[in-house]
Amino acid sequence: FLCIAPPAMDLFQYIKSRVSILDVVSEYVALKRAGTYYKGNCPIHAERTPSFTVSPHRGIYYCFGCSKGGDAIAFLAEVERCTAREAALSLAERFNIDIPDEIISSSAHTTQSSSERERYFAACTAFADWCIKNLNQSEKARAYLAERGISTRTAERFMIGYCLSGERATQALLAFSRERSVLAHDLIGAHILKEGSHGLFSPFEERIIFPIQNTLGSVCGFGGRIFQKGDTRPKYVNSQDHALFTKSTLLYGLAQNKKSIHSARTAHLVEGY
Ligand code: ZN
Repeated sequence: FLCIAPPAMDLFQYIKSRVSILDVVSEYVALKRAGTYYKGNCPIHAERTPSFTVSPHRGIYYCFGCSKGGDAIAFLAEVERCTAREAALSLAERFNIDIPDEIISSSAHTTQSSSERERYFAACTAFADWCIKNLNQSEKARAYLAERGISTRTAERFMIGYCLSGERATQALLAFSRERSVLAHDLIGAHILKEGSHGLFSPFEERIIFPIQNTLGSVCGFGGRIFQKGDTRPKYVNSQDHALFTKSTLLYGLAQNKKSIHSARTAHLVEGY
């Protein structure tokens, strides 16, 4: 006999049914109520008089200035310049939405660019986590942070770590990454490992590691600082520019602080990490 299954809900519908577009947009725009909709200055195009509107009952936004419009996911993808899938997954994370496995896997993108992005971010996250683990096990690295007045809580909040050096360390990083399906060529592609005449090494070795997050909170690059007496190498090395890491477009600490900057309407910009 014929069995007709109900149409599966896709990832985008699933997320949209669980977040309010007002909550999403309010992280970027100061909205004022105007009858049944809300108004504010458009975060997509520069403007002084508000022509950006949100209709919460319809779950959409529309800007009369630049004619951009769509749902909460389209909005996030537009302002963060990411794919709709990345925007949807970041909303799930931000709003603590558990996504059933069948919805996640049925929405998996097969386009190469999307899987390349995911691999790049996975490599960066694996390296950041490995460096955090090293920091927790390194007396000298923790002593340095303490001496600079960085508490354990601050170090955790900013994912500060320490990159070990030597062949054993490289092997340990490769093993740690493999457990997360991140392979050597992913680490090389993300400029975390390099091929030298004596095998693989990291330009970040024997440095305190500052993972740099994009506005959505994905680790997309690193700054590494020397910290040991007698180390005469350049004080900092940074990740090489990459399609997903353009230093001049990133502000360190913004991901962690954008909500409070928005609510306080104040930001303090300082040099360095
Ligand atoms: Zn606009």
